[in-house]
Amino acid sequence: MGTAMEQLKQWIEEGKRIVFFGGAGVSTESNIPDFRSVDGLYHQQYAYPPETILSHTFYIRKPEEFFRFYRNKMLFPDAQPNRAHKALAKLEAEGKLSAVITQNIDGLHQKAGSKKVLELHGSVLRNYCERCGEFYTLEDIMKMEGIPTCHCGGRIKPDVVLYEEGLDQGILREAIYEISHADMLIVGGTSLVVYPAAGLIDYYKGNKLVLINKDTTARDSVADLIVTGKIGEILGTICGIE
Ligand code: NAD
Repeated sequence: MGTAMEQLKQWIEEGKRIVFFGGAGVSTESNIPDFRSVDGLYHQQYAYPPETILSHTFYIRKPEEFFRFYRNKMLFPDAQPNRAHKALAKLEAEGKLSAVITQNIDGLHQKAGSKKVLELHGSVLRNYCERCGEFYTLEDIMKMEGIPTCHCGGRIKPDVVLYEEGLDQGILREAIYEISHADMLIVGGTSLVVYPAAGLIDYYKGNKLVLINKDTTARDSVADLIVTGKIGEILGTICGIE
C-alpha cells in the first residue's frame, strides 16, 4: 500500500463522521461510462453534444431524440454496485459514515445497501407523468418505446435534473449540512467541473479533504490528500471488500 493509501486508511479508521461526495467515476467500474474520460460520452460522436441533448430546452423541443439518447446512453438496468459502492455502504453500517452525496442517477449506492444517499441530480429509477403525476419505475419505462407516455396521454419525465434545471433545494440544504458537519470529506470520481454541485466541497471546514480520482481534477489544489487510481480498487482494498 502506498503512502497516500496508508494515510487514507488511517483517516478512515479514525473517522466518526465521514461524508462521501461522488460523481460518474464511482460507477465506471460498474461499466457505466462517465462524461469526460477518454472513453466517456463527451468523446463519442453525436449530432449534438451530450450537454445539449441533456438540457431542458432539448427535452422540450426534440423529445424523440432526447429519449433515443437517454435510452441508449443513460439507462443501465443490469449494472451492479462495485467495490466502491459496497465499501461506502459498509462504512455507513459501521457507523463511521453519515452520508453519501452523489451526482449519479443510477441508484447503485442504494443497491449496495447505503441508506442515507443524497441524489443531487435525481434518479433514473423514478419517473413521473407530467400531466397526472403517476409514478413509473425504470422497468415500466424500459417496456415502452420512444417517448414514454402515461395512460392519461401525458409525457413521462425521468426524475433527473437536466442542464438548465435547478437542483432540489431541500437535498442541497441537507448536503451542505452533512458536508459542513463532516470530520472527513472524501470526494471521488468527479471532475468537479459541474456547478453548483462542485462548489459543495467549499462547505467543508476540516483538514481531511481527500480527492480520489484516476486523473487530476479542477480542485486538486484544495485537497489535504490526493489518492490517484481507481476508486473501487482503492476503497475496496482499504475496507476489505472482495
Ligand atoms: P465526469 O464524467 O465529469 O467526471 C468523472 C470523473 O471520474 C473524471 O474526473 C474521471 O477521471 C474520474 N473517473 C472515472 N473513472 C474512475 C474510477 N474508476 N476511479 C476514479 N476516478 C474515476 O462526471 P461528474 O463529475 O460526475 O459530472 C458529470 C455529470 O454526469 C454528473 O452530474 C452526473 O449526473 C452525470 N452522469 C452520471 C452517471 C451515472 O449516474 N453513473 C454517468 C455519467 C454521467
